[in-house]
Amino acid sequence: MKKGRHRRFEEARALKRSNEPAPARCPECGALLEEGEHASWCLYEESQAEESQEEEDEGAYGA
Ligand SMILES: [Zn+2]
Repeated sequence: MKKGRHRRFEEARALKRSNEPAPARCPECGALLEEGEHASWCLYEESQAEESQEEEDEGAYGA
């Protein structure tokens, strides 16, 4: 009986998780990109800034 209740809780949690988009995290340091607080050693934003210039030329990248 307790097992069933626990499973329901797990399902609700999984459902909630699937409805919310996973927060984008920096692949370099794991920081939340929303907050923009990267580790001091992280070069992710620098590499993104360089890539974004190339994306503008291609236009449809990632669409
Ligand atoms: Zn980072």
